[in-house]
Amino acid sequence: MSDKPANFLTNAIDADLANGKHTHIVTRFPPEPNGYLHIGHAKSICLNFGLAQQYNGECNLRFDDTNPEKESQEYIDSIQADIKWLGFQWAGEVRYSSSYFDTLYEYALHLIRNGDAYVCELTAEQAREYRGTLTEPGKNSPFRDRSVEENLELFEQMRRGDFDEGRCSLRAKIDMASPNMNLRDPVLYRIRKVVHHQTGDKWCIYPSYDFTHGQSDALEGITHSICTLEFEDHRPLYEWFLDKLPVPCKPRQYEFARLNVNYTVTSKRKLKRLVDENVVSGWNDPRMPTISGMRRRGIPAAALRNFCDMVGTNRSDGVVDLGMLDFAIREELNENAPRAMCVLNPLKVVFTNIAEDHLEMVTAPVHPNKEEMGNRSLPFTREIYIDREDFSEDTSLSRKKFKRLVMGDYVRLRSAYVIKAEEVIKDDQGEIIELRASVVEGTVGANPPEDIRPRGVIHWVSASKGVKATVRVYDRLFNHETPDRGSDDFMQHLNPHSLEILENCWVEPGLEVLPPESCFQFEREGYFCIDQHDSSPEHLVLNKTIGLKDVWER
Ligand code: ATP
Ligand code: MG
Ligand code: MG
Repeated sequence: MSDKPANFLTNAIDADLANGKHTHIVTRFPPEPNGYLHIGHAKSICLNFGLAQQYNGECNLRFDDTNPEKESQEYIDSIQADIKWLGFQWAGEVRYSSSYFDTLYEYALHLIRNGDAYVCELTAEQAREYRGTLTEPGKNSPFRDRSVEENLELFEQMRRGDFDEGRCSLRAKIDMASPNMNLRDPVLYRIRKVVHHQTGDKWCIYPSYDFTHGQSDALEGITHSICTLEFEDHRPLYEWFLDKLPVPCKPRQYEFARLNVNYTVTSKRKLKRLVDENVVSGWNDPRMPTISGMRRRGIPAAALRNFCDMVGTNRSDGVVDLGMLDFAIREELNENAPRAMCVLNPLKVVFTNIAEDHLEMVTAPVHPNKEEMGNRSLPFTREIYIDREDFSEDTSLSRKKFKRLVMGDYVRLRSAYVIKAEEVIKDDQGEIIELRASVVEGTVGANPPEDIRPRGVIHWVSASKGVKATVRVYDRLFNHETPDRGSDDFMQHLNPHSLEILENCWVEPGLEVLPPESCFQFEREGYFCIDQHDSSPEHLVLNKTIGLKDVWER
């Protein structure tokens, strides 16, 4: 029991514990290592590991690796890194379905011996035909009534590699007229002459997902096997195997609704296309809804966990608004991110009443309401940068509308002086290249004289002591709310402006030596982090995580 809200799963677990069916809860997260994990997997991870934590139980990590062609060690490694980053640890060693191949093979023999499985030689096309449709029952395969001996012999030949791929398969003998298509003699083993990343060339037959999953659950002593709703129809088959086989225990399968979020796609196959077609820089591009992409974007693991909690766990499909994730991100970063200053679009300001070699350190809090985070010391010099958008020559702008610097007027520099704009220097095209200004003496940490009323507070960075940075600003990868739900190709809905690279940004000194992935709130700009891979003290590269508030129209 805990303070988390109840849902149909916690109700089931509570009941199982109360009536003594279980005394200890074991769940599992069973990814197929055929891609990087995405936000939907984050939901499944938080759910499975979360329940284990909540009930003092365990959660296994099991790679569901029965399709060797599409799987790889790169994916296995990334999945482990993602789970750890999210803040979870699996029980004991990492597990692989493939490590149960020997037992599964024995189970297949068991079914054959009991007359519950047969080697079928229908071609794929014939098998489809025999299968029937949702409205029409299927037909029995002509190979269905082979003797046990013949089946044992043929299955052994399959295993030995005597047959080519597709020549035959092992099928369960259940019911070709079942209204549930999954029970129409499903395939248990198919011939695949491929090397497996874990078992090498030991096998040339591989078990199907259905024949693998429940038995693996049973072999690991899983009590609650949680999957997404599309497997609801597989549950009778899951139970059929557990009833027919000498398994050590009988886990139960539960289904919940997949997490879908708008303005993105969450399918490994589609995400892989974005990578393969170079739409993004890789699986961990900060625009990707992958866990590694979100991490690189600067989204804190805690925000992702909180988001998954907020979404809840239920049995009806829906699309969650990304705004909910944004909310969780801002909440987390506002609370914990150190503050700093960064000028994204610099305009040089020269103070005419300050000496050229002037260097003065001013003090600013690391966090406005967390004293324990300490202070930072910022160099104030004769030349600084402010953002171009924070200055206007238009003296008619009202104080209320434009709380920034206007020609001839005053503004406060955050944690430093009140200044006055005095003169603009323009190039031949009329573009402002420099602003001349003066500081109001005695205004660091003190109010100016009464007749001076600064319009507002703006951020700044010392031009001579600041550090140049490249800042990447991201937007949604898709400009369609449900890019893959219509009839057109989801790639048509790519947002052509999802990445903007600002090469000439200036940040306060000291940031460049902080570790990759450090995150900040740049005052008045939003939340940013140091890129995990591309940044170095010599060339600082920052990713914008999210703005301070939502600028998207909904
Ligand atoms: P995809 O369709 O994106 O390839 P998958 O379901 O094939 O995903 P798996 O590696 O099999 O990917 O998933 C591992 C676990 O994560 C499964 O238990 C699956 O149910 C769960 N999962 C995958 N996508 C989602 C999602 N969108 N929402 C919730 N759980 C998910
Ligand atoms: Mg799957
Ligand atoms: Mg899949």
